[in-house]
Amino acid sequence: MKLDEKLEPIYQDVLKRNPGETEFHQAVLEVLESLGPVVVKHPEYLERKIIERICEPERQIIFRVPWQDDKGQVHINRGFRVEFNSALGPYKGGLRFHPSVYLGIIKFLGFEQIFKNSLTGLPIGGGKGGSDFDPKGKSDDEIMRFCQSFMTELYRHLGEHTDVPAGDIGVGGREIGYMFGQYKRIVNRWEAGMLTGKGLKWGGSLVRTEATGYGATFFIDEALKVRKDSFKGKTCLVSGSGNVAIYTIEKIHQLGGKCVACSDSGGVIYHEKGLDLDLIKQLKEVERRRIEDYVKYHKDAVYKKNGNIWEIPCQVAMPSATQNEINGKDAALLVKNGCIAVGEGANMPTTPEGVKVFLDAKTAYGPGKAANAGGVATSALEMQQNAQRDSWTFEFTEQKLAAIMSNIHNLCYETSAEYGAPGNYVLGANIAGFIKVADAMVAHGLV
Ligand code: NDP
Repeated sequence: MKLDEKLEPIYQDVLKRNPGETEFHQAVLEVLESLGPVVVKHPEYLERKIIERICEPERQIIFRVPWQDDKGQVHINRGFRVEFNSALGPYKGGLRFHPSVYLGIIKFLGFEQIFKNSLTGLPIGGGKGGSDFDPKGKSDDEIMRFCQSFMTELYRHLGEHTDVPAGDIGVGGREIGYMFGQYKRIVNRWEAGMLTGKGLKWGGSLVRTEATGYGATFFIDEALKVRKDSFKGKTCLVSGSGNVAIYTIEKIHQLGGKCVACSDSGGVIYHEKGLDLDLIKQLKEVERRRIEDYVKYHKDAVYKKNGNIWEIPCQVAMPSATQNEINGKDAALLVKNGCIAVGEGANMPTTPEGVKVFLDAKTAYGPGKAANAGGVATSALEMQQNAQRDSWTFEFTEQKLAAIMSNIHNLCYETSAEYGAPGNYVLGANIAGFIKVADAMVAHGLV
């Protein structure tokens, strides 16, 4: 899609003000490319400089995180929290611990989060944070010391009505536990709603662990229904083997599909008769091992070191690892091999060239900001339960998640149709997510 001439100078300004932050530029451009027809209908957004304001975080915090390893060596990492937009509610978005983290990654994630959170229909603003800390190979004690040091600085910016982080890559239940413990100790307050993804025995919500993967699968199920189709009998690929990937595989299997491959940053597992999810959970969630160990238990499965999962023929692809993992060539190969639906569990896993291939091929393509919104939506449900001092059953919470994903799907679909491109979920998600935030910002005046 071409950038509207009124939006071009805004994008050029973003490039100039945020040098070197390529992932952030990519995320901004993708949204601005959808907004041409919106600013024609709503000139007030331009007059009030809503788009310029949305592209500038309300607050960016960068801090030193010193910690000691088990041998007594001191390490220094960098911590980030970008509080992007609070028009709809407290800043909300996960924390990522991965060596690739720098400001540009956190800003792209925080920017996407604004529109994703808006699409959920729940009262949450957008933010994101993390660190260039690498949790791989660290002992439990090292992880704890790092999390405590991280929270010792970040706590002053958080609060149930201010900023509510959650997990992301490298941050799961263990890390959330250590950070919650340190926050509680510093502020001397049991404030459950200041962090989500908590353990079930201390304020967490059932279905939060499963929510992103289940939600992405529900979204694609809705998109398949529009085409009078379903997951039944479909061969599927799910990249990654972390939180999102595992529960995407689980829900696909429940809906009658067959996942034949998953991966980690080392390589790809292909198991033609269908993945053994219990084994993957044991290897990844319990023993924290590499996915290559899968073939030790299934001699008929194949491990391809540094392999490309997208070369495997499938009908549904669910990228659930990281950003820019599907390029133009991968997308073309997927389409050529018969892929009819792509649901992004990960954030921005498809490059702009790849997105174009899927849109041109009329693939049922669910972009991350819509398809993976189930995670943050269930985080908001966790906050609701915390506020009520209540905890809901698995079935009740899953029904709520399914209803939210169906609403997001329908909102994106209807918006895409209203703007003349029915089924273009990129356009639908960007426009529907944007308008709600923009209207709130207009209502709040120049802040
Ligand atoms: P996890 O840390 O649980 O798992 C990440 C998985 O992706 C691992 O298998 C990891 O392999 C792989 N991976 C990570 N980075 C890379 C890389 N650079 N190259 C290849 N593989 C990589 O994270 P999540 O499952 O929580 O997150 C996955 C994606 O989903 C991310 O894009 C995240 O932003 C997005 N997301 C997550 C949500 C959540 O609720 N957790 C909510 C919404 C979106 P390895 O172990 O080898 O690094």
